[in-house]
Amino acid sequence: MPLQRSWVTSANTTEGDFPLNNLPCGVFSVGPEEPRCGVAIGDFVLDVTALEADGLLSLAGGPFLDVPFWNDLMEAGPAVWVDLRAQLTALLNEHSQTRERVEPHLYALSEVGLHLPFLVSEYTDFYAGRNHAFNVGSMFRDPANALPPNWLHIPIGYNGRASSVIVSGTDVRRPWGQLKGANDPPPIFAPSRRFDFELELGAVVGQPSEGMVSVADADAMIFGYVLLNDWSARDIQAWEYQPLGPFQSKATATTLGPWIVMRAALQPFRVSTPPREVPLLPHLQEPGPLLYDIALEVGLTPELGVETILSRTNYAQMYYSAAQQLCHHTTCGCPMNVGDLLGSGTISGPTKDSRGSLLELSWGGKEPLTITGGSRTFIEDGDTVTLRGHAQGDGYRIGFGACSGRVIAAHANPVGSGR
Ligand code: CA
Repeated sequence: MPLQRSWVTSANTTEGDFPLNNLPCGVFSVGPEEPRCGVAIGDFVLDVTALEADGLLSLAGGPFLDVPFWNDLMEAGPAVWVDLRAQLTALLNEHSQTRERVEPHLYALSEVGLHLPFLVSEYTDFYAGRNHAFNVGSMFRDPANALPPNWLHIPIGYNGRASSVIVSGTDVRRPWGQLKGANDPPPIFAPSRRFDFELELGAVVGQPSEGMVSVADADAMIFGYVLLNDWSARDIQAWEYQPLGPFQSKATATTLGPWIVMRAALQPFRVSTPPREVPLLPHLQEPGPLLYDIALEVGLTPELGVETILSRTNYAQMYYSAAQQLCHHTTCGCPMNVGDLLGSGTISGPTKDSRGSLLELSWGGKEPLTITGGSRTFIEDGDTVTLRGHAQGDGYRIGFGACSGRVIAAHANPVGSGR
């Protein structure tokens, strides 16, 4: 599909994140006013809460957008999702007859605040990137047995925390925790020294489930995708993770991009998962291409410094799709809810410059990375980490906006200084 042209001329560029083909969903506020639902178009956000209140947008069973989150609209179901895109496309396309009525509801993106686009009901993080799992396994075990024995059979994951999911632009405070090196005497309690990012894509579940759902039905339940940074304290993780997996090391914060790119906008960019190394059991097999060709990058900007791009990779590197993960999540009968968030797992490519975490980029801290004006093994206080991503269309791109977070210094000792 070519670029769909809009009367919002800034949406008609080849390099912008938000052409008419995209229409990603967010929540914004103007000054001290209450947050409301918006859709990004070019350099603007369109106030769809106001459009619905004015009757310019009329969705069967609505209103759904009179709340500062997209959960109600998601719950309304796929037919409403399709209708929303059709009505917005009619209002915003270059031949629209309603421009005069719609235009007053546009706000410059540079002048609004952005909020979490949906209420995160629960958060699950997977470990579905083949290169990431191999790299981490090679570092912590050995290259001959890098992948856990279950890895090629099920998308493994853990239940994370919804309470610490935050929106891009929110500072992240360096966590305290128990740290213990392999050969150290008893552990110490100290701020993490190996704080890291993980470049991921989050799938937003838009429909509930009861009982097990197929991979195809799971795909249809996904409303859209967001950029996701799964902040990770490697030293806390190394000590705590056996045998139950990550706990405090992953619970400090998870930063989401401000825009949910709807599944429909990504439809032209579907690709198959890579070839299976061992056949999957039938219930997890893909009925068709369920992954997406989405170029991703991560940049690091020191305080008062300039950004260095640390890595470029692609979502198509994942071994399992979000639909396969969601299917697996329901096999035991676990109900899924509107607003469930599924992290893909760290998205690392096969080459050194396509790794999705500092743990891999600095190979466990042994190979410092050169950045403009310095070097890094792990994140330092004042560093800002920014994720970006887009699918490349014919003369346009479907972008996700930026997903940024700055790491700030740990609190003073939360249990007091040894008086
Ligand atoms: Ca992760």
